[in-house]
Amino acid sequence: MKIESLLVHGGIDGDEFTGAVNVPIYQTSTYKQAGLGDYKYEYSRTGNPTREALEKTIATLENGVGGLAFGSGMAAITAVLSLFKSGDKIIIPNNLYGGTFRVVDKVFKNFNINYEIVDISRLSEVREVLEDNKNNTPIKAILIETPTNPLMDITDIEEVSILAKEFGALTVVDNTFMSPYLQRPLDFGADVVVHSATKYLGGHSNVVAGLIVVNDQELLEKLHFIQNSTGGVLGPFDSFILLQGIKTLGVRLDRHNENASKIAEFLLNSNYVSKIYYPGLKDSKGYEIQKKQASGFGGMISFVVADNVDYKKFVKSLKLITLAESLGGVESLICHPATMTHAAIPYEIRQKVGIVDNLLRLSVGIENVDDLIDDLNNAFKESLM
Ligand SMILES: *Cc1c(COP(=O)(O)O)cnc(C)c1O
Repeated sequence: MKIESLLVHGGIDGDEFTGAVNVPIYQTSTYKQAGLGDYKYEYSRTGNPTREALEKTIATLENGVGGLAFGSGMAAITAVLSLFKSGDKIIIPNNLYGGTFRVVDKVFKNFNINYEIVDISRLSEVREVLEDNKNNTPIKAILIETPTNPLMDITDIEEVSILAKEFGALTVVDNTFMSPYLQRPLDFGADVVVHSATKYLGGHSNVVAGLIVVNDQELLEKLHFIQNSTGGVLGPFDSFILLQGIKTLGVRLDRHNENASKIAEFLLNSNYVSKIYYPGLKDSKGYEIQKKQASGFGGMISFVVADNVDYKKFVKSLKLITLAESLGGVESLICHPATMTHAAIPYEIRQKVGIVDNLLRLSVGIENVDDLIDDLNNAFKESLM
């Protein structure tokens, strides 16, 4: 089956007991046992049929052997980081989701799990760090975001996976920005895929959730053990909401892709921005790699407003586009990374990598694109200095 059909019918197709076309919300914490050891489910932290339907669905979509659902993207990332032990070291990208940096830097570092910051879009830099650490503290994992949040750097998943294997490290890809509709990292050799399902997979800004998919049974069992032991599971109702969102992922993303490319073109031809970060620009650094590993450019665009635009006034002047954290919903959202999503990253690092104060990140929704362009255009005009 092709992905469009898997989105609707993948995983568990309906309810085996009633024939309901949707898997019901099994809102229960525990299950009656016929006798000692005679049961299908024992307790909903360990397993729940609604959550399991979601876990099967995401595993099917990402071409993995199994999936796991968590109460947030951060809970999923925390579970992956819980694979490591004191003394281990991992590689993280030099621009990534602020919350991921925070949990690595402020939580796991306390447990002596250390990190190196690398520009992962440069393979030679990745190799250098792997070599440098080889004899003392070999790198245990490379975390990739591609595109990165918020600067849209593209990393060649296949090349990094080959390099990671050479050094015995796991390749972990945060696939939030692309979703399995556009990019399936396990097909390119990655070991673990994580999602903030809060974003495109849910798609309606109505649920916070995280997912993991792996392509190795042993790794799946390790992560399921961590999920059950640490307990950050997704509830049945939220699992149901997410299953519903996933069914329309394809049609939504087709529109996100289309709208974003038109808005990128508008921004490119306007005098209001000085820099655009969008992987669909033909002369952008990662364009060819993006075309190789993904079937679209996604709905995210970051841009630096020109010196003659007051960015604070601009975000206030927008009428249709909402100033808010998060992304990937049907409605267009704009955010100011320096004070919102990426405030956890120290000022010096932000400046160094390009998360400057007049950088804005736009999550292009599925509204009529002319309305969105009008909104941007009017707000720019109102905020000229
Ligand atoms: C939002 C986000 C996360 C965190 O997910 P939550 O569901 O908010 O916990 C992780 N990675 C990326 C790329 C994100 O955009």
